[in-house]
Amino acid sequence: MFVVFVGPPGVGKGTQAALLREHLQIGHLSTGEVLRQLIFDDTPLGKTAKAFIDIGKLVPDHVMIDLVDDRLENQEGCLLDGFPRTITQAKALDVILAKGEKEVSIVIRLTADRAELIRRLSMRACEGRSDDSDLETIRRRLEIFDSRTAPLIEFYRRQGKLAEVDGIGTPPEVFARVLAAMSSEDGCC
Ligand code: AMP
Repeated sequence: MFVVFVGPPGVGKGTQAALLREHLQIGHLSTGEVLRQLIFDDTPLGKTAKAFIDIGKLVPDHVMIDLVDDRLENQEGCLLDGFPRTITQAKALDVILAKGEKEVSIVIRLTADRAELIRRLSMRACEGRSDDSDLETIRRRLEIFDSRTAPLIEFYRRQGKLAEVDGIGTPPEVFARVLAAMSSEDGCC
């Protein structure tokens, strides 16, 4: 199965994806983590990505689509955290999965109010993430979520694939809601 996590920066996608990966024993692709590793390794793609990430902007669609196409090849199932982030990426994901006669199984939308997101992202800044380093960059990332990524919610709702989960609470509390949402969607867990 292919599970997509959608939600604003700071909502806990990475934490919940890691818990679900343990639970389902399937692969996990976090495009943010992949990009941070490429930056750390100082690769050409890492250099390109860094220029966007540092100022809180999205890396261009074609770069991300090629990267994901490569990593999803021959995968039987995967949790996607941080991809797709635009409608163009969502449509490309459908094409990538269709090559293996697969499709997105469920989209988990995590929610939290803006004040809580800003609080969590400011805490992350103390842990050294360059894109959470100042309030202006954090605000830009939240605005970009609203303008570029939030349309995915309607895109997947129309396909009947959207499960909504309240992201406020401890990681285990939220995870219990994720599992409940998944089992009410398709009985998978
Ligand atoms: P994340 O760890 O998912 O919050 O991603 C950190 C940063 O990496 C984002 O703010 C973007 O600059 C970049 N990034 C990650 N995934 C994508 C994507 N699917 N499309 C464009 N940029 C991305």
